[in-house]
Amino acid sequence: MAEKELLLHAEQIDKAFGPTHAVDHVSLDFYKGEVHCLIGENGSGKSTFTNMLTGILPIGSGTFTLEGQEVAPKNQVDANHHGIAIIVQEQGTLDGLTVAENMFLGDEGQFMHNGIKNTGAMVKKAQELLDDYGFNYIKAADPIENYTFEERKLVEIVKATWFNPKVLVVDETTTALSQDGRYELFKVINRVRDHGDCVIMIDHDMDIVMSMADRISVLRDGEYIATVNKADVDADKLKTLMVGREMNGKYYRTDWGESLASDVAMKVDHVSVPGELEDISLELHNGEILGIGGLSECGMHELGKAMFGASYERTGSVTLADGTEIDDINTAIDHGVAYTSKDRDKESLLINDTIADNITLPSLRDYGKILTGKKIRTEADTYAKEMSTKMVSVNQFVSALSGGNKQKVVIARWLAKHSDILLLDSPTRGIDIKVKADIYNLLDDMRQQGKAVLIISEEIAELMGMCDRILIMKDHKIEKELVRDKSLTDTEIIKYMI
Ligand code: ADP
Ligand code: MG
Repeated sequence: MAEKELLLHAEQIDKAFGPTHAVDHVSLDFYKGEVHCLIGENGSGKSTFTNMLTGILPIGSGTFTLEGQEVAPKNQVDANHHGIAIIVQEQGTLDGLTVAENMFLGDEGQFMHNGIKNTGAMVKKAQELLDDYGFNYIKAADPIENYTFEERKLVEIVKATWFNPKVLVVDETTTALSQDGRYELFKVINRVRDHGDCVIMIDHDMDIVMSMADRISVLRDGEYIATVNKADVDADKLKTLMVGREMNGKYYRTDWGESLASDVAMKVDHVSVPGELEDISLELHNGEILGIGGLSECGMHELGKAMFGASYERTGSVTLADGTEIDDINTAIDHGVAYTSKDRDKESLLINDTIADNITLPSLRDYGKILTGKKIRTEADTYAKEMSTKMVSVNQFVSALSGGNKQKVVIARWLAKHSDILLLDSPTRGIDIKVKADIYNLLDDMRQQGKAVLIISEEIAELMGMCDRILIMKDHKIEKELVRDKSLTDTEIIKYMI
């Protein structure tokens, strides 16, 4: 292959949403005449990156340079004028407009004469384009609502490419398309590439990536990991790049080979949740940290909910040592089971309430009949301080805290409740190293006190570093059990995940 010519350069592109560093100083080159796939697990920053390029989101910091000129599109129409177009995953056309109006939305100027829109000319041009693409059964003058989601996607494909953009972004579009729709999309992608332009394609399907891409770049947790030539890799290598995480901390447990505690704190028997979990059985012991790992979609996040009695369509049973069946959240809380969700802000915290109220929420009934504000604040203060939460006082609103300190509030809540079984989904997600170390110490203390701790984690290093046993899930089932061992490697663990 001849040396490719640089078309677009991304330099230190960066974007944060509050505590989430969605895109972390990513630099990338895109060539003329290539299909460049961007891959990474859910939430790795792919859409945020391309949305900044295409004017959907403002650029946080960094620069895009297209053919030597810096571009910072203000919106999608502005991006089009710079020769950059996007086909999004969601519906990209608007109800209430015709097909033609959708195609030229924001760009009607070309059909205006003395302040009057020449609708006929617009429809004529739109129909010519549709016919040219082979979509002549779509009528330019029709309301867009007359068409199916898939047909509307075809309109978007024409809208995004008829003017020969230099860069075409296709973000997870294939998921919503049938074979026929995909075939049309792939034809257009190949046409753009053969015209000497660049397609940036985001797709979850490794077969599609391996058949369409010339080069592939991998993002992980917002960070750039690698760019590879398609010819040099296979799908497994790509998946390893997507999930692989290095051991990079001295803050994990240092003990190895302690004998496993044997008494069972919680027993999960043949638990299924439609589409999420298939026949899961496991035992969580007192005095152990049990890890659940896998790819983000493997069902592991649902498992935490199912064990807490928070899954609606669960079958099978979850039983405590004393025989109590956990079928709902209240029973779980009353029997000392704690749960923290991966989605801290939405599912675990009352964001617009004080630290004090958040910490004492599940314990209120334990404080007896006379419940004073002072009692609540004193209790909350004890546990917030035990977690070394950085705060002004417990009267501060949770919404004002950083991600790491929010997580400390969530954990302090369950300390206050004296929970003996802790089900923690992604306990250190989006948290800086120092706070992580605090949380790891606390989890190890709990283990040594004989509490039963379950960690659901997408971080392999954390599973290897903190857990007595690791259950790897794949496709909604338990694929493999691994016992804490210094010689375990992330490569070995990843092998069972993919
Ligand atoms: P991908 O497309 O790779 O799945 P995204 O770019 O959509 O990932 O998301 C990257 C991270 O940024 C995720 O943690 C996501 O939750 C977060 N994120 C994306 N958009 C927003 C937003 N508008 N507000 C807050 N967080 C966001
Ligand atoms: Mg996305």
